[in-house]
Amino acid sequence: MGLRPNLLTRRTAGVASTTLALLLSTAAVGVVPAASAFSAAPADACAEPADVHSDARVKAGAHAKQEPNELTAKETREREADLAAALRERANFRTGAGAAALAAVTIPVVVHVIQEDGTRAGGNIPDSMINSQISVLNEAYSGGTGGAATAFSFQLQKINRVTNPAWYPIVQGSSAERSMKTSLREGGKNTLNVYLGELSDDLLGWATFPKRRLDSMDGVVVLTESLPGGTATNYNQGDTGTHEVGHWLNLYHTFQGGCRGSGDGVSDTPAEAEPAYQCPTGRDTCTAAGLDPITNFMDYTYDTCMYQFTAGQAERMLTAWNAYRAA
Ligand SMILES: [Zn+2]
Repeated sequence: MGLRPNLLTRRTAGVASTTLALLLSTAAVGVVPAASAFSAAPADACAEPADVHSDARVKAGAHAKQEPNELTAKETREREADLAAALRERANFRTGAGAAALAAVTIPVVVHVIQEDGTRAGGNIPDSMINSQISVLNEAYSGGTGGAATAFSFQLQKINRVTNPAWYPIVQGSSAERSMKTSLREGGKNTLNVYLGELSDDLLGWATFPKRRLDSMDGVVVLTESLPGGTATNYNQGDTGTHEVGHWLNLYHTFQGGCRGSGDGVSDTPAEAEPAYQCPTGRDTCTAAGLDPITNFMDYTYDTCMYQFTAGQAERMLTAWNAYRAA
């Protein structure tokens, strides 16, 4: 099966042959209790699964410090149970309150540009690249690139430029990352904080999943040069941002769980045994129906290859929004 026409019209860059490895690291990230902006939560609603994970993408030939991994079946079960519990809490809270679940969401975005100095090599990118990234998010999440329309749109609220060599590069799981986020994070649970910088271990980005209690680690970290017009070859059309925000909105990778079980918890993303790299058109790694969803934003293919979310993913994100991030 060939790529869909909208892919070809949207994406003009060729697919290079460079071998790469995109690895998912699971890094246990401790929780810094913070004042919860989630006033709707009952006082006893703050129990969290012990494991808090962030997701990472790794560039070609990179050697990540963390053991490449994905969420275990136990971890996904815990996350799903937590989502169900969060939904129950919201339903109970809303009884008699007249509040309705949201069907359309505009997400305020605060972008922190972490710079080593004032040079481009030191992380000083123009505002135009950030505006382009917001446009890429809006295109992707509205279905404008060919996938399902989701409930989400994104509105840039602020660009915060920070020159601090101690945070450059941003090292995943480090005390410096914690310090950076604790110092800089703004807004409530509905505010998307994006941290741009040079990243450790050749990573392209990582993100936190939503939680019932807001903590200062919440947000996404994205390689500055992965923004549209950046220098990260094969990854410079802004889809690292799209992918990481997908995690922030509770999506798993399309290859989560491999061929067995509930996979990524979404029924219209065919199961795939392992991540897809580059753009292996027609790949089919599981016996269940459907080719591997290599064009999905939640796989590991090149930016030129990925262009869609599914209706099931859109529903999963909205459900999670109403459970975790809605005001
Ligand atoms: Zn990921």
